[in-house]
Amino acid sequence: MSKRRIAVYPGSFDPIHNGHLDIIHRCRPLFDEIIVAVLSNDEKQALFTVDERVAMIGEEIANCSECRVESFSGLLVDFADKVGAGTIVRGLRAVSDFEYEFQMALMNRRLNDHIDTVFLMPNEEYIYLSSRLVKEVFFMGGNLKGLVPPEVLDELLQAVDRRAAQRAGQ
Ligand code: ADP
Repeated sequence: MSKRRIAVYPGSFDPIHNGHLDIIHRCRPLFDEIIVAVLSNDEKQALFTVDERVAMIGEEIANCSECRVESFSGLLVDFADKVGAGTIVRGLRAVSDFEYEFQMALMNRRLNDHIDTVFLMPNEEYIYLSSRLVKEVFFMGGNLKGLVPPEVLDELLQAVDRRAAQRAGQ
């Protein structure tokens, strides 16, 4: 039997948006198993908790039988090794992503030469999309239709309510 091709798709996913989902969709013909891995090192800056992000992603990949979501902390190559993944998938949007991604890919290869990084490009309509921009546009009242799934839009609305309640309680 040939070896299962397992990929890890890591990121902050705060929150997941259609650019991320486009990349996950592009992974499907390439891998037997796709593990979306939510980095949990940096919770303080995030809008959503790691558990909330994992739950949102779980909902969006529910129809993909070969996809699952997990959170991880520490070195990505250690997580990839633990789950038996031979590939790290990253999305490349623009030239501006390249330098950082290039550094990370080479550092990860130095840390573990058995794991390679592959880059996939999203549909052009998502090339400018980032979680940071999603949050900025949302908090300024912009229309995010077609850029995030409807469930994520609901979660953003709830996050606003939570913030307002927190402020009122202060
Ligand atoms: P980071 O890892 O910088 O926190 P994100 O969580 O936003 O990044 O994204 C996780 C992965 O998805 C990264 O590989 C990132 O390049 C990729 N990605 C983010 N936004 C898009 C997009 N609009 N199209 C394609 N790939 C994207």
